[in-house]
Amino acid sequence: MNCSNSALRGFIICPKCQKKLQGSKCKGRHKHYYYYHYEASCKYRINSENANRLFVENLKKYQPIPEVKKLYTSLLYETHRDLSNSAGEQKRRLAEQIKDYEIRLGNARDLLLSLKIDPDDYKVMKEDYHERITNLERELSMVVNEKHSIEELLNKGVDNLIKLNETYADRDLSDKRSLIGLIYPENFTIRENKIQTARVNKIIESICLINRELRAKKNGTKDDFYLLSRRVTSTIQIHTNFMQDLKKLAYFQVNL
Ligand SMILES: [Zn+2]
Repeated sequence: MNCSNSALRGFIICPKCQKKLQGSKCKGRHKHYYYYHYEASCKYRINSENANRLFVENLKKYQPIPEVKKLYTSLLYETHRDLSNSAGEQKRRLAEQIKDYEIRLGNARDLLLSLKIDPDDYKVMKEDYHERITNLERELSMVVNEKHSIEELLNKGVDNLIKLNETYADRDLSDKRSLIGLIYPENFTIRENKIQTARVNKIIESICLINRELRAKKNGTKDDFYLLSRRVTSTIQIHTNFMQDLKKLAYFQVNL
């Protein structure tokens, strides 16, 4: 039996009874035919070759363009930042607070030098400000590290997706099934030869969207990046899945 025939088993949801379709072999006159269906109680079935072909065609939508790898990373990072309202805003606020304490420290020094406060008071103030500045700087470096780690995950995720798309056909059954589960965390239905799903992995979905936008606009400018960024942000509304989906894709084991 050709393994590719059963790769989708358990991932397709029946459009009629909403149950997960299982693989089934039917004897024809000259060869075996494979179908996905649930039970005799539901008459729905889909030819496994058709289903697999549709799946593989659909997979092409999610193929990142290697030449613009960096663009995916920056767009998705921007999107994440917008959604979580974190890094940029947080960095700016922390830097402002650090500067503020440095000014206060300078003022205290001036007061000390002009003998308006005594050395003991100055010492207390200095220690207090130093401690606050140290804490803020630690917080700031964590925000910067978070940026690096998200970018690292994005780079890894995009690389993984490129590899997975390139090698899908040659992979064994269990690899294929892991990949299908990664793309469609909530399975999918096939209706009128189209794959429909409640949710595609957010990162993979975004890459598909970026590809579509890139195809629509060939000559990119800085303004386009901004618009592209807005478009990506607007489609990723449930940002709770963003980091989770990113980690799933980045940590996905791709052995070649
Ligand atoms: Zn059914």
